[in-house]
Amino acid sequence: MPKAIIVGAGINGLATAWGLTRRGWTVTVLEAGPLPNPRAASFDLHRLIRAQYGDDLGVAHRIGAAYAAWDTLWADLGATHLIRRGTLGLSREPGDFTDRSRAAFVANGAGEELAPEEVAARFPLFPTEGVRFGLYDPAGGMLLADRILRDLIRWLGAHGATLRALSPVTAVNRATGEVTFPGGREGGDVTILSAGVGLPALAPDLAGALAPYRATILYCNPAPEEAALWETAPCWTDLGGVHEELWGIAPAPGLPLKIGNGVLTGPGDPATQRLATHADVAATLAAYRGRIRGAERITPLDLAVNFYLMAPDGRFVVARDGRTVLLSADSGHGFKFGALTGLDLAAALDGGDFAAGAARITGAGVVAAA
Ligand SMILES: Cc1cc2nc3c(=O)[nH]c(=O)nc-3n(C[C@H](O)[C@H](O)[C@H](O)COP(=O)(O)OP(=O)(O)OC[C@H]3O[C@@H](n4cnc5c(N)ncnc54)[C@H](O)[C@@H]3O)c2cc1C
Repeated sequence: MPKAIIVGAGINGLATAWGLTRRGWTVTVLEAGPLPNPRAASFDLHRLIRAQYGDDLGVAHRIGAAYAAWDTLWADLGATHLIRRGTLGLSREPGDFTDRSRAAFVANGAGEELAPEEVAARFPLFPTEGVRFGLYDPAGGMLLADRILRDLIRWLGAHGATLRALSPVTAVNRATGEVTFPGGREGGDVTILSAGVGLPALAPDLAGALAPYRATILYCNPAPEEAALWETAPCWTDLGGVHEELWGIAPAPGLPLKIGNGVLTGPGDPATQRLATHADVAATLAAYRGRIRGAERITPLDLAVNFYLMAPDGRFVVARDGRTVLLSADSGHGFKFGALTGLDLAAALDGGDFAAGAARITGAGVVAAA
């Protein structure tokens, strides 16, 4: 049986381990922290999955396949960790995210285009003053990220994979695939470096191109006056405006409202900038005034700071060097593709065409229709 070493137990490492284990490979996962690691980009209550994708044709066309890959995972896990609340995007200006999403969204038949009055009637939590149109993806919603990681870890353990927590890899021989970690060395047919913001330290030649980005998330209680409306509210990808990047996840049973403000996201240092600031909280709450009903009455509960690894143009990176594969399907939007990335990479490594598999994962070669 071929053997794989996987460095990093975020969604991309675990899903690749799942894909290879399903194909009969012997798999060892080495994780620097605990399993799962709360510091991983993948670790949170939830992550958005949505078809609104700006004008990034690289991966927008893969959303349908991404939903199908999650269905394959749910069948293996015996549990579904996706709450399909739908995702709503609003356009207020030409060139904003929802406006840039429109062409691919419509071409892919991803959902409904809504006039402002339809948005107001169906989604009354979102004020429509200045709204040009909305895009609604009924299949979108929240992937329950921490539950997915825990269940993948459980599934891998039950299917013969070796999982090593507290095993930071300190050196990699890319030609042989051998890795060094405290107390051991291990090699196999393929070594996959899926270490998130830890990747540049293991692959210094990529350090110039890949940068850690700091992102904040505010968990909240909505005001009691709006609680009933929130019970069926969608998640949102963008509420319009070229200088605004408001996205968020509606509350669900046992899960708080989560609001994000992308304009606060930027390069940062995971070693020194993990603490939340009052300025982050105030800026996020202020940005939502007039964008969601009752924003001024929201009660902040907690602010989470996390880091993802940004590649040029927000793309994904898959490269092979000797027996080693470098994988960064991240750039702040990689979770939703996690199951698909794992299945595609496993197929490419298991007798498939690696270059074609890498091109599928990164979306390389997709061009706009004339
Ligand atoms: C705040 C925030 C919000 C986001 N929202 C969304 C969203 O709504 N939808 C979406 O699709 N995506 C979203 N993303 C992006 C998504 O979370 C990431 O693209 C994805 O989780 C990356 O997974 P990964 O496995 O590549 O990396 P990670 O999850 O970071 O996993 C890497 C793992 O490698 C380990 N590691 C590091 N170095 C070593 C080493 N030397 N040895 C061993 N192990 C090591 C780390 O401890 C970690 O566990 C968001 C990201 C953030 C931070």
